[in-house]
Amino acid sequence: MFGASNLTPERTTYVTHLECGMTGETLPADRIHNLSPGGYPILVRYDLARMKRDLTPDGLTARAGDLWRYRELLPVRRRENIVSLGENTTPLIPLERFGTLAGGSVPPLVKDEGRLPTGSFKARGLALAVSMAKELGVKRMAIPSNGNAGAALAAYGRRAGMSVIVFCPADTPELMLREIGAHGAEVHKIDGYITDCGKLVGQGAREGRWFDCSTLKEPYRIEGKKTMGLELVEQLGWSVPDVIFYPTGGGTGLIGMWKAFAELEAIGWIGTARPRLIAVQAAGCAPIVRAFETGQRRAEPWQNADTIAMGIRVPAAVGDFLILDALRESRGYAMAVEDDAILVARAEIAREEGLLLCPEGAATAAAYRQSLRLGLIQPSDRVVLFNCGNGLKYPLPSIE
Ligand SMILES: *Cc1c(COP(=O)(O)O)cnc(C)c1O
Repeated sequence: MFGASNLTPERTTYVTHLECGMTGETLPADRIHNLSPGGYPILVRYDLARMKRDLTPDGLTARAGDLWRYRELLPVRRRENIVSLGENTTPLIPLERFGTLAGGSVPPLVKDEGRLPTGSFKARGLALAVSMAKELGVKRMAIPSNGNAGAALAAYGRRAGMSVIVFCPADTPELMLREIGAHGAEVHKIDGYITDCGKLVGQGAREGRWFDCSTLKEPYRIEGKKTMGLELVEQLGWSVPDVIFYPTGGGTGLIGMWKAFAELEAIGWIGTARPRLIAVQAAGCAPIVRAFETGQRRAEPWQNADTIAMGIRVPAAVGDFLILDALRESRGYAMAVEDDAILVARAEIAREEGLLLCPEGAATAAAYRQSLRLGLIQPSDRVVLFNCGNGLKYPLPSIE
């Protein structure tokens, strides 16, 4: 049974320790961490052997349809530290007509993460980061953001009674800046990219002014994003799709899902089959694509990044090697798509399917079409496209 009593105030979770994502160096749980001593992302490790003995998927049926249904695979030790805004299970929506137009024979499924609190999948990561920050006594959190992460930290952080400081590029969509402000966070508009914002957050953290909540610079956002993989596999009856297209900025979701599949196999809930992971980037900012194609494990920072898909306008990612390892291990690849193709896909899917994607989500649809055209995937492949944000948060074309 998925023991209902496994997470009581006295009982610890299955977390055993943390680990450096590059060297495997062991780090203690229950302390505040940012990067590992070597400067790499930190991963949470669980006693999966004990979990395998204790839990079966049947026990999940009775639980609420939100990400806390996977609480044994999450790091929060005390239930009272959970900070939640209702992180509901997101639907899988088949694109019949678009799939046919693109040349597929099995409709691709859109996992629509725009239905989450604050209108993006950043809610998954920040729900975990804020819950863990609460558990460890953090009071002030800062984040560099292209909009969605800042909004999610503002909402969850304020809900936990913390101070939240957000650094955004000045050209972040106005609605998102106002959303962050509406939640009572301090917003700083910076003339630069998210990487420049990240430097300011890092500097303030070194000065002891706040906790740095940047992508992969604390260990828990990835655990929240991991639930996309857990949820997807459960929705597909404990099986994996053939291919996942993921709009990749910092890569937390991709790395998190890859970790989810490994953990599910270790507890015996899925077999050895894995989806091919496809990292989708915009042609105007494609550091992971360039590193993948030139056989590198680390990505050179992208100069003069430019795309309408703000969520993936990330010139440099601290977890680049984890993304590239996952792509290669999964026999996937990285693909760049032009902004024009993103806009065409968004318009087509809104018109033909009734589903308004965010530009980053539309990028995965454009990459799906491009991949079929190039013969990189099969028309009969079971494909999942990640739409990571609500389309209404982005500027739309006028009606003329
Ligand atoms: C943050 C974001 C991404 C990129 O997600 P990562 O997991 O950090 O790569 C993609 N799309 C949207 C809408 C985002 O907000």
